[in-house]
Amino acid sequence: MATMQKVFAAYQSRLSTLQSTYPSNRYAAGIACIDNTLVPLADARIPITDQGFLKSDLTYDVPAIWDGRFFRLDDHLDRFERSCSKMRYKSPLSREELKAKLIEMAALSGMRDVYVHIIVTRGMLPAMLVSEAEQVNNLYIIMKPYYWVMAPEMQIAGTGAAVITKTVSRTPEHSVDPTVKNHQWGDFTRGVLEARDRGAKYPFLTDGQGALTEGPGYNIVLVNRGVLYTPASGVLEGVTRLSVMDVAREKGVEARVERVPVKMAYSAEEIFMCTTAGGIMPITELDGKPVGDGLIGPVTKTIWDAYWEMHYNPNYSFEISYEFSK
Ligand code: PLP
Repeated sequence: MATMQKVFAAYQSRLSTLQSTYPSNRYAAGIACIDNTLVPLADARIPITDQGFLKSDLTYDVPAIWDGRFFRLDDHLDRFERSCSKMRYKSPLSREELKAKLIEMAALSGMRDVYVHIIVTRGMLPAMLVSEAEQVNNLYIIMKPYYWVMAPEMQIAGTGAAVITKTVSRTPEHSVDPTVKNHQWGDFTRGVLEARDRGAKYPFLTDGQGALTEGPGYNIVLVNRGVLYTPASGVLEGVTRLSVMDVAREKGVEARVERVPVKMAYSAEEIFMCTTAGGIMPITELDGKPVGDGLIGPVTKTIWDAYWEMHYNPNYSFEISYEFSK
């Protein structure tokens, strides 16, 4: 696990450098943009009648900055724009203005490993009352130090445990479109509670008809006879999953996006989850039993290493200039 140790050690050292700028750098613990005004994250407030808060009438996206480089920002913004268009929101900032704002915020904060949360809400009036032309949609941006869905220590130890949930399945896609990134996490939250009750951390939700979908904030990938399988529907089309497929292609590993029967999970040689906030996260225990031999498998390791390496490839990332903020 030489690469894993190296990646996490470098990250930890950057984090310590950032923390040494507390509290004189008032944005180092996080920065937010509300109504086009920048504030330290701890001081950020939203208007309580925003329909995003009251009705979850919003969409969002989460790109990340890694070691001072924005990773696959255009892929995230493409998905964000598709989501806005499906829900008929119009971001108050154009794509170029939004990019400039994100870069300005990162540079001001000095954060080099960043979780970036971009949200557009319906605004202050319920969708039922306003026509599209009359809507004034709100944009919120949160940036905080990189967040791990699976902590580095757990990734290194290979102790990620998941369950296939029995008490809840994924909200049907004809009810809430999972390709539009959303905060309607009622099903996921119930999944987390069930996983906890069953001694695990990560719930895998099914479609209620024998197929695997996803979990709270991550796509699921199974390795079966050396081939990667990830569900085609009932899921967010993850950008990290896209990277997994790019890496797999490069490494000559076949990857299939198709219906994945739940029973395939029980015979998988390896399982990992993937998301922007955490990367490639090995799952070595499913429903209380070891996955394969219970250790992080060779395919997961190969994808893990190549995924983090990819963050320095200019085809997928660009460097942020932190100079002007000094
Ligand atoms: N599925 C859900 C429900 C998510 O919320 C996320 C990310 O937050 C993902 C999958 C992974 O998407 P991405 O790889 O683009 O971060």
